Amino acid sequence: MDIIPAIEKEILSQPKRIAITMHTNPDADALGASLGLAAFLKKKNHHVSVIAPTNYPEFLDWLPGIADVIIYEKNNQQLSFELIANADIIFCVDFAVLNRINDLAGPVSQAKATKIVIDHHLDTEDFADVMLWNPKATAAAELVYELIEALGETNCIDKSIAECLYVGILTDTVSFKTPNTTPHVHRIVANLLEFEVDVAKINKLVYDSNSLNKLKFLSFILSNRLTVLPDYKTAYIAIKSADAKQFNLNTGDTEGIVNYALSIKGIVLAALIKEKHDRVCISLRSVGDFAVNTFAKEYFHGGGHKNAAGGMSNLSLEETITTFEKLVKHNQDLLKQ
Ligand code: 5GP
Ligand code: MN
Repeated sequence: MDIIPAIEKEILSQPKRIAITMHTNPDADALGASLGLAAFLKKKNHHVSVIAPTNYPEFLDWLPGIADVIIYEKNNQQLSFELIANADIIFCVDFAVLNRINDLAGPVSQAKATKIVIDHHLDTEDFADVMLWNPKATAAAELVYELIEALGETNCIDKSIAECLYVGILTDTVSFKTPNTTPHVHRIVANLLEFEVDVAKINKLVYDSNSLNKLKFLSFILSNRLTVLPDYKTAYIAIKSADAKQFNLNTGDTEGIVNYALSIKGIVLAALIKEKHDRVCISLRSVGDFAVNTFAKEYFHGGGHKNAAGGMSNLSLEETITTFEKLVKHNQDLLKQ
């Protein structure tokens, strides 16, 4: 199926009920791409709802339109199920495997709606009618921009839409530092900046809005919870639930912390291993050829991108750390680069 005509026929012909959903623990790309798309579709007179399976980090509470996001886990189960069941179109943004949306997976897969995936993760599952999928894209937000452009609708972009898409690309490229940051991406961002995106304000809000508490937490974990395995070019940070409690952490407060482990000279693989109520969550980052999405998929029920992925473990924190160290040793040949 030719993608753009298919989407054009579905979404531009007449007003539709549209549900947009994104992956659990939504980040700036999942939210920015979803909200940018939602604002665009609202301008085309569709009835749009945006559903996040779980809450978003506080540092994104300024995103245009975020107040209207329906957070499934916050007592919105029934509403979310109804919106999904009654939708004409469901956009799946920043994920392409259904287990990324937890309890919403069943309702989305059973929904009668036309399902359109907009994603750049390597793992995909065959559940959608239309796949706007490109694993080389830096961000789902980049794909949303390309969709609007391919539909010939860039005249609909305004400051709010541009800021939503900008922040998705900004954060998924780690401030335009990842190897997939091409001239093409910079051109898209340049086009977005034409809409008076407040670059300084957004960067301040995203990167320089730490609470003192969060900085103290960071200082504590870098001093007490960081382990470096120089022989394996690996560094990891392990956070106990008691640590999160002690520092009174909010959703998203550990976002980006894994990058401190990766920032150590010579480190190829970095992990954040975080104890949650009933499981241990793992964030993985790498530089170069070591594919953390494969590592996450093989050992931690997860996936993601080559250099940024995540997963989980049902073992205790201590057992997960032991397993992680064993796996690192097992993969030592791949880590030599
Ligand atoms: P983060 O470490 O920031 O949570 O996630 C890094 C990347 O891996 C993101 O692109 C995210 O979508 C993906 N990711 C994180 N956790 C999982 C997971 O459990 N499964 C899959 N398939 N991808 C994940
Ligand atoms: Mn993304």
